[in-house]
Formats: sequence, C-alpha cells, structure tokens
Amino acid sequence: MPSRELRKVSPEHKEIVDKYLSEYPVKLGSLAREIGVSGIKVSSMRTGVSGQITNKNGRYIIRVNRNEARERQRFTIAHELAHYLLHRHVIDSLPDGITDNVLYRSGAPERIEYEANRLAAELVMPMELIEKKLSRDFSGVVTEVTIESLAASFEVSKAAMEIRLSTYAEV
Ligand SMILES: [Zn+2]
Repeated sequence: MPSRELRKVSPEHKEIVDKYLSEYPVKLGSLAREIGVSGIKVSSMRTGVSGQITNKNGRYIIRVNRNEARERQRFTIAHELAHYLLHRHVIDSLPDGITDNVLYRSGAPERIEYEANRLAAELVMPMELIEKKLSRDFSGVVTEVTIESLAASFEVSKAAMEIRLSTYAEV
C-alpha cells in the first residue's frame, strides 16, 4: 500500500514516480528530470549541510554536498525530490529555497521534514521491490548479511536500509 506521503503526490507526478519505483537502484536523476527538476549538482557546500533545493526563475535545482558518501547523497537527492513533490510552495516562498543540514532539518516545520524523509525512503527503497528481493533471495529472513546486500542493491547506506526494514517489521 502506498504511504501517506506518496498519496499526497499529484496524480501527474505519481504516475512518473510509480514507473521509476519499479526497478532498483531507482534512477533518481532521470526521475528528477521527468518531474521537472532542472538539475542535480554535486557541489561544495559548507560542512553540516547535506543538500538544498531552490527555485531560481522557475528552474528547480538540487545541490548535494560533494563531501558526503554517494549513498548519503542519493538519500539527500531523494529528500530534496520529496520536498519538490510535496512542498513546492515552501521552496517557492524562500529566496534560497530549502537547505537541509545533516539531520535533515532546515528551519521548516518538523512535519515537513518528517514527510520528506518518509517519502525519500520510499523513493530510494521502494518497499514492494525490497519485499520481492527479500523473499526471492533470502527466503524473507532479515540478517546482517541481508541488510548489507539490500543496501548495496538499492545503493543506500546500511543504516538507511536497517531503518527501512525495521519500520517494515512493525507493519
Ligand atoms: Zn528537508
């Protein structure tokens, strides 16, 4: 069942997102382009900042900190894409858009960051695909090795996959 956040995405974007969530690792760059983000830049950003999304004259640009690990950058891109999909009004209302620190806090209300993190997890770790791979390759058994292997397949950090699987276990 799609998450609450995914259900808030406009139908037009939802169709595109669904298409990308059908294979892993999810191609975030192509997804971004197709939903109307003009560019993703790996940039020099000050320490403590993970990412940013801005609207400059109608062009949405995502920046991620070049000093962070690639898996981390992927999650950050997904987080900024989630802001784009859910919180465009917030991005548009601020001259420098939304800037997220390493804890994915931006000064925007906590609910907004919570939503962006939930949707970001969905974008880089689609549960349906995880479940499929989990049952096909690991007989549904979650171990340290399983988590590592899934993290590698989805190109996310082991910590992110661990959190994803723990929320799954609660459902
Ligand atoms: Zn954020």
